[in-house]
Amino acid sequence: MSFEIKYKDMLGRIGRLKTKSGIVQTPLLFPVINPSIQPVSPKKLKDTFGFEAIITNAYILKNRFENKPIEQGLHKFLGFDSAIMTDSGAYQILVYGEVEVSQAEIVEYQEQIGSDIATILDIPTGWKITQKQAAKTVEETLKRAKEFFKTKTRDDILWVGPVQGGRHLDLVAKSAIEISKLPFQIHALGSPTEVMENYRFDVLVDMILTAKKNLPPERPMHLFGAGHPFMFSLAVALGCDFFDSAAYALYARENRYMTENGTWRLNELDYFPCQCPKCANTKPQEVMTNTKKERETFLSEHNLYVCQAELKRIKQAIIDGRLWEHVEMRAHAHPALFTALKKLKNHQNFIEEFSPTTKKRGLFFFNSISLARPEISHYRKRMYKSYRPPEKKQILLLAPQTRKKPFHKAHEFNRIKQVSKKLGEELSAKVHVCFYAAPFGVIPLELDEVYPLSQHEIALPLDQETIENVAKQVSKYIMQTQYETLVLLHDPEQWSTQIKAACTKACQKKGIAFQAVNIKTERSKSLLTRLEMTLRKHLSDEP
Ligand SMILES: [Zn+2]
Repeated sequence: MSFEIKYKDMLGRIGRLKTKSGIVQTPLLFPVINPSIQPVSPKKLKDTFGFEAIITNAYILKNRFENKPIEQGLHKFLGFDSAIMTDSGAYQILVYGEVEVSQAEIVEYQEQIGSDIATILDIPTGWKITQKQAAKTVEETLKRAKEFFKTKTRDDILWVGPVQGGRHLDLVAKSAIEISKLPFQIHALGSPTEVMENYRFDVLVDMILTAKKNLPPERPMHLFGAGHPFMFSLAVALGCDFFDSAAYALYARENRYMTENGTWRLNELDYFPCQCPKCANTKPQEVMTNTKKERETFLSEHNLYVCQAELKRIKQAIIDGRLWEHVEMRAHAHPALFTALKKLKNHQNFIEEFSPTTKKRGLFFFNSISLARPEISHYRKRMYKSYRPPEKKQILLLAPQTRKKPFHKAHEFNRIKQVSKKLGEELSAKVHVCFYAAPFGVIPLELDEVYPLSQHEIALPLDQETIENVAKQVSKYIMQTQYETLVLLHDPEQWSTQIKAACTKACQKKGIAFQAVNIKTERSKSLLTRLEMTLRKHLSDEP
């Protein structure tokens, strides 16, 4: 296989893809080259900005330059000696309705010019389109994909099989399932540009994940037209390995200055929030006085630096296991991105399936949005599928989380230790201590050092949704276990009444005894006595 995965986090991966012009690393951004008007030369993109690959449009090349790229070869023609991807004209179909070229012609042309990665002539679905029209684009794309394998002649080119269907998710699924059956090396999600232009990142989440769920995970996926750095991390986290950006140049033409948190108009800026080699020694006011062409080059180059820097941060976040935190940070750049982040809740099991279970760093939880994190889904799944409490435990003693972790090393745990000592070995062996803790739910004492149960930090006070979620987990735990009694160390300051209410209800349903001891109303000494008495009472009830 030409694609090898080195590191993963969420569905994002750092991988190596072998092309005939050399190996490239993913996640990879292909700057779009317009051979007629190019503000930054392909050579400079590689030498100065470090781009390993570029993309250009075979349809435009064929129309404007005809045989010249064939005679010189694409790499010499563009002056770029690393991987070059070509698109086929599908975008022009989307904009102009049709193109004056057949698929066989454009496939042959891409083979003649020597693209490293090439695309069949798919039919983009677009945005404002009915289910019926969308179905037609999927059918026609599949028909062309099948025909393509009868006409292609070069096996050293990596061919892209696009997935269509637009916002019609059933069609995206069908398209992905069918195109997977064909031996393409790379897939692409077609025409999400309009979805992104309309800031429907939530729809984009569903489109990408529907495609991902139905495509072979070992084949890289390209997201066409995802050119803005503020959404790279979201797309990477959802499993997009390639992007292309024409935005760096298009924005520059309109005096728009990209940052990883959004876009500014040059004339609105008093300061450059960037220390790239372009911005470091000048001011927006000075750049405004430049000629239009100088300004365009300045902005294109700055935009490229920003894109490249964001990709590096994303890669480091993957290696650190901090991609979720990174996506969450970027999601605050725009409510539409945050809406998309909220959508991940609906896909948490799928994301969990492919995410690593241990990481070298601890996790940060800020609010209930993080409840969809793969680490939490993973823990819950394991708890409910395979965890069994130790044998001969009659009482479940539920204690609240502590600031210090692991919980059993916190000073609050001393009172439980003291009571256990007073009860003696035989009786305390019948008590199972577990913690209720956000965001995980119930954490049995014997697991509290397992990653990431004590390797995380959470913002306090907890929000309502997080408390309710823990209450739900507590109740689920009671229902699936077989204790005779539950004793809750109730902490109304941190947890209000929800945990207690959930315990009351679950114990009633289960038909087991329940007693709550309020840890905030009693002094430490009387609390110990009360806890000891409570435990003894229920332990002596034993027949
Ligand atoms: Zn800059």
